Amino acid sequence: MKHYSRVRAEIDLDRFDQNLLAIRKALPDHTSVIGVVKADGYGHGAVPLARRMQECGFVSGFAVATAQEGLSLRRAGIAKPILVLGYSFPEEYEEMVRHQISAAAFTDEMLEQMSRAALSLHGEMGVHVAVDTGMSRIGVEPDESGAAFLNRAAHTPGICLEGAFTHFATADERDKERTNCQFSRFVGLLELAKKRYGVTVPLRHASNSAAVLDLPEAGLDAVRAGIILYGLWPSDEVNRSAVQLQPILSLYSQISFVKTLDAGREISYGGTFRTESPTRVATVPVGYADGYPRGLSNKGEVLICGKRARILGRICMDQFMVDITHIPEAAQGSPVTLIGQDGAERITMEELGEKSGRFNYELACCLSKRIPRVYRSGQKTVAEKDYFDDPG
Ligand SMILES: *Cc1c(COP(=O)(O)O)cnc(C)c1O
Repeated sequence: MKHYSRVRAEIDLDRFDQNLLAIRKALPDHTSVIGVVKADGYGHGAVPLARRMQECGFVSGFAVATAQEGLSLRRAGIAKPILVLGYSFPEEYEEMVRHQISAAAFTDEMLEQMSRAALSLHGEMGVHVAVDTGMSRIGVEPDESGAAFLNRAAHTPGICLEGAFTHFATADERDKERTNCQFSRFVGLLELAKKRYGVTVPLRHASNSAAVLDLPEAGLDAVRAGIILYGLWPSDEVNRSAVQLQPILSLYSQISFVKTLDAGREISYGGTFRTESPTRVATVPVGYADGYPRGLSNKGEVLICGKRARILGRICMDQFMVDITHIPEAAQGSPVTLIGQDGAERITMEELGEKSGRFNYELACCLSKRIPRVYRSGQKTVAEKDYFDDPG
């Protein structure tokens, strides 16, 4: 096992299991969970987490953003259904048919090209019709044209209509009026398709994480749970008591250098921080190239020996400095917690988001591939992912 002293993200798989169970408990029995593992599982590592979810009866499949992400799950032996939520490109269809990766469909041209790809391989393309009920991103309209499209999807050779979905734009806001509106448009379209054409859709799904927390009754056949799997919150307006979540990722480093600076010394690029009195300063060998936001310059804090140490000056690409004047026991080699718990103190992705002016989703996705991921269960390391091991 490697040491990863400079920086490592530890992902707690036991907490991940607990999050999954908590989500399950909040949903009606007939509603399954589609694990959203796009963007490498929001930076947490899609493969190890999908492997963990494979074992779970109530996880009916996985959702990703791109065909490539789906293929990488298949290469890792993930066997459950995989849906690409975004636009899939025609040149990807054959590969998707071969590996049974389902696509979102929303134009006739897509249906035709998918059908052609499937028939050329004597296979089938699984399709979920995307319905635009208010996000204005992708999807058919929830009207007669959408119902007719569902009918065509159901009857195009080579196409298997597996599901239909819509996506909420404001489910993370306290006021659920627009979300309820989107939901009734979606359900209305499914009813219309049934009434006009007798089309029934096997898997109907609408909810994202925020709707899982606040509108469990919108669960339909499945929910697409993303951010809450990782123990992070969709926003600060959702009900945080609905589901017991715990963040699963911690980010650790070590002090690389310690010195005491006299009053009047400037710290880091631009000299934006100036010591006013003798200051004990520690260097941390992590920077914005690791995805640690530069916006935390002169604002953020880290945990050292169970205490908060504030960032002095600008975050560099690969290093930054913190004030440890009040932590005499801190020394070169002392552990530094950038995200996670140390003693009674805790720094969350949400706190970093607020302080850096970024979004917790974005922070998680942007933890760079320079950070190795270490997977822990029962106090033991059970898997590791070092992106530099890939020979390229
Ligand atoms: C990303 C995404 C989700 C998951 O959203 P969370 O807020 O992370 O739960 C669900 N559905 C679609 C279409 C998405 O793009």
